[in-house]
Amino acid sequence: MDINLYGAVPDSIVDGPGLRYAVFVQGCSHACPGCHNPESQPREGGTLTTTDAVLADIRANGLVHDVTLSGGEPFEQAAACAHLARQLKEEGYGVWAYTGYLYEDLVRLAEHEVAVRELLDNVDVLVDGPFVQARKSLSLKWCGSSNQRLIDVAATRAAGRVVTWEPPSFVPQKPPSW
Ligand code: SF4
Repeated sequence: MDINLYGAVPDSIVDGPGLRYAVFVQGCSHACPGCHNPESQPREGGTLTTTDAVLADIRANGLVHDVTLSGGEPFEQAAACAHLARQLKEEGYGVWAYTGYLYEDLVRLAEHEVAVRELLDNVDVLVDGPFVQARKSLSLKWCGSSNQRLIDVAATRAAGRVVTWEPPSFVPQKPPSW
């Protein structure tokens, strides 16, 4: 399946926790003032490739176990991103996605857009909402403005309300033989 990319970073440490493969799609209609990737907004441009080629490049990178879909707007190439996310989940990768849409709006869209539903079904953490310059904060981790939420999609569905993702806390344990 074709996918139009703005770029890819095979060893990102800023698009979610840990070392990740970040896929940036081309095209975003949200036009947020102060956008971190303004060159990714036009639909024209970018590099046309295939989801199979992207998957092959991710698999060839033996170091990453997590992938982030960003942009651009992944939900404006929902079918291609859903194909990537589904395949990655089947192979055991963790998947994050950034979107300028609100989660609630995507849930409504998913009622009649199969690709949107399939993409949501295969994302672990959704970072949602547009970038809002007035709420920009450099102290935030993994998002640019304080309106954006790191949503644990599975927990949100189970609870029937938005549940934000929390990084696992690290508690050092003594090995049993000590
Ligand atoms: S949603 Fe993201 S990529 Fe799109 S305009 Fe806003 S900040 Fe830029």
